[in-house]
Amino acid sequence: MNYHLMGIYYTIAAVFLGMQLATGENLAAADTDFIQLQKALEKHNFIVKISPPPVRGAYGLFDSKTRIIWIHPLVFDLGIARPTLIHEAVHAAQLCHGGKTVKALNLGIEPPAMTRRFFMNYEGFSRQIEAEAYTVQVQPDGLNLVISLLQKYCP
Ligand SMILES: [Zn+2]
Repeated sequence: MNYHLMGIYYTIAAVFLGMQLATGENLAAADTDFIQLQKALEKHNFIVKISPPPVRGAYGLFDSKTRIIWIHPLVFDLGIARPTLIHEAVHAAQLCHGGKTVKALNLGIEPPAMTRRFFMNYEGFSRQIEAEAYTVQVQPDGLNLVISLLQKYCP
């Protein structure tokens, strides 16, 4: 794997699975939401690939260089497709904001306590980037929030 050729990865790891299963997703509504967000991303020239990401252990992955969002097919069976795509879409909005690299959006939303263990093991800059993605994915209106972020920051 050549990271210089492939761009910078922003992955969501298997470790967040436990948190999401506890939320009890409505699967039919989640599928509709997933397609709505996928279309919004495609409108802003991102590519959503339903395919195992090229990083072992990742359920979702955003490559800032190719603008490809990889979503592992397993997440549909696990009922976490919606939060996984919302997470990666936040990174997409961060890329629009930063230009060539992701940049924190400074959303002014306090990360919920349950998300802290997912981003506290990142250091410095990456921690804030990941904190925003985890914060938005667990918001009750996370879908509309991330779509509005894409509209605000992406041309
Ligand atoms: Zn992330």
